[in-house]
Amino acid sequence: MSEGMTYDNKDKMKDTINHWHIKQNREIKNTHSDTTRLRYKCVSAQCRWALVARATGFGNTWAITKNVAKHTCHASASRLDHAQLTSAMVANCIKLSLEKNADISIRAVADLCAERYEGIVPKYNKLWRGRELAIARAFGSWEGSYGLIVPLLEAIKRSNPGTQYKIVSKPTTKPGYRFFMRAAWAWGPCIAAVGHLRPVISIDACFLSGRYKGKLLIVTGYDAENQLIPLAFGLVENEDFENWGWFMKWVREFVIGRNRYMCVVSDRHKGIKKVFIQDDLG
Ligand SMILES: [Zn+2]
Repeated sequence: MSEGMTYDNKDKMKDTINHWHIKQNREIKNTHSDTTRLRYKCVSAQCRWALVARATGFGNTWAITKNVAKHTCHASASRLDHAQLTSAMVANCIKLSLEKNADISIRAVADLCAERYEGIVPKYNKLWRGRELAIARAFGSWEGSYGLIVPLLEAIKRSNPGTQYKIVSKPTTKPGYRFFMRAAWAWGPCIAAVGHLRPVISIDACFLSGRYKGKLLIVTGYDAENQLIPLAFGLVENEDFENWGWFMKWVREFVIGRNRYMCVVSDRHKGIKKVFIQDDLG
């Protein structure tokens, strides 16, 4: 990482700089970044360390043109997070594990980071963003798809044959982007179990308090030992007649089956009641 060193591209160079600083246990900040230049300074005001890099003009390569002085700041003895351990680096770190298990937990992501980066564990938000990024990289891009949900459901479908899902979206003015409206899905093994369950299902909705809000609609069945089994899930913006109607119709067709009758237990929400007086909605 000295003056004159060149790298295949900007990302590779940034990765090298970040890795080196994580190992050193020192933090730097990016003071300038555009298509041709990149500057860093140490986070410590007393430390004179600074680095400047430029695009060389040959292909995508970048070179370090200035690397001023050694760090004179103190390396923290007890650091949990690190500014240079970005969500992109978290994504790199969990790549192989994620390909084996699409359902990797945030706890496991934290453990993998701690293992690779000598005990450094980023904050929850960063781990979460890193996992989102890794999933998008492994199963498809964010752009042009409906965000995370399609690649995730496709990945789950591969390991759970028989899984059904439906996503409704509409076009936006931005080319390549679609506006998410509704989604419904049911796991293959759960659909296969329907014939062995008691003829009773419970339906309800719950708030989603994460970044995207919305409601999660759920259908639950009971087996012969009265154990609960999740049958289907829906993701909608509001709990209303249109959404319940769309979801119950989908559940009838792909989960319960046309010729099976079920007793439905619900909280008698307005939207649900209206669905049940219309035959065509399942
Ligand atoms: Zn420093």
